[in-house]
Amino acid sequence: MNKKTIEDIQVSGKRVLVRVDFNVPLDENGVITDDNRIRAALPTIKYLVEHQAKVILCSHLGRPKGEFNMKYSLKPCVERLSQLLGQPVGLACDVIGDCAKKMAAELQDGQVMMIENVRFHKEEEKNDPEFAKALASLAEIYVNDAFGTAHRAHASTAGVAAYLPAVAGFLIGKELDFMGGALENPQRPFVAVLGGAKVKDKLGVITNLLDKVDTLLIGGGMSYTFQKAKGGQIGNSLVDNDRLQFCLDMMELAAKKGVKLLLPVDNEATQEFANDAMRITVHSNEIPEGWEGMDIGPKTQELFAAEIRGAKTVIWNGPMGVFEFPNFAVGTQAIAKAMSEVDGITIIGGGDSAAAVEQLGFADKMSHISTGGGASLEFLEGKELPGVACLMDK
Ligand code: AMP
Repeated sequence: MNKKTIEDIQVSGKRVLVRVDFNVPLDENGVITDDNRIRAALPTIKYLVEHQAKVILCSHLGRPKGEFNMKYSLKPCVERLSQLLGQPVGLACDVIGDCAKKMAAELQDGQVMMIENVRFHKEEEKNDPEFAKALASLAEIYVNDAFGTAHRAHASTAGVAAYLPAVAGFLIGKELDFMGGALENPQRPFVAVLGGAKVKDKLGVITNLLDKVDTLLIGGGMSYTFQKAKGGQIGNSLVDNDRLQFCLDMMELAAKKGVKLLLPVDNEATQEFANDAMRITVHSNEIPEGWEGMDIGPKTQELFAAEIRGAKTVIWNGPMGVFEFPNFAVGTQAIAKAMSEVDGITIIGGGDSAAAVEQLGFADKMSHISTGGGASLEFLEGKELPGVACLMDK
């Protein structure tokens, strides 16, 4: 990475504002159902504690829409963090108010506190300079370790860097090293697997990856638009009729660049969008009228798995079917399993694919599971992330 990290700056005795991504899922009782994002921030927080910094954490949680709303308080995150860290973590009752200022001023070396949800102020998402300045005034150094929001130019993710020396934390460093390494200097064969609902969301990713990969596997809801563009019958499957030409262009471009672009050869189809609906296995270009593709079929699972297993670098983003229905999670599971068998670098681009890999117990078999779905997609598009661009160059 070409950005300075916390190891490149003297932190001891300094007040350090750390943007983390504690936007964790909570159940209806406000209990954290998955604390991965908190765990992912631990290396940076522990490093700062061990190096006697005064650590002031900030994050968003949910969408409080610019108002103080205790439903979105970071209290559950602070409690979990303090258990994981094995030391007390204080929570200020405001964001940039007297309470936060007083706590920050009184913080001792090696202590950790958190200010309240930065999205309690509408200025956060507007990247308001006064709000960013107020955040900056709490500290002497800024560390961004919130990869999940690094694609947003908000006050706490980017704006604040204009007022303080700004460096990356270990999580951002790790995310960029894995994904950047794969994109810039991959071990080959380099295979990308794309799925998910919409072609529209992956336009930039497909275009960018065609310059980098040896093989591109396209499954999930987006594959039916490709099939239709090729003249296939897709019945009632998901389709984006405005992107048929795009799909044709991409297939042509892949052929020109010598990239193997593979689509499903068979699909599981139903007449009803339900887990227990009667299903048939059909050729991907012969889905009958009234039937909808719900998952990749067994031949496609084998075809895709063989490509994945033979790879030295694999990046995967997006499920192969309607994986929320267990009966149609089989294709997505097959991809996760094949990735777990790769002798090389395996990267999961966050979101649904990360959830699938965790659920199936393959998480520890992957080289890297990104903590940011949106951020990793933008990174795969080749875009510079504002939360990274704002940090000091090495
Ligand atoms: P994305 O947010 O683009 O990653 O898409 C994830 C969503 O795509 C999941 O909710 C899946 O249920 C959905 N999806 C994947 N394949 C299909 C399909 N064949 N038909 C309908 N939805 C699908």
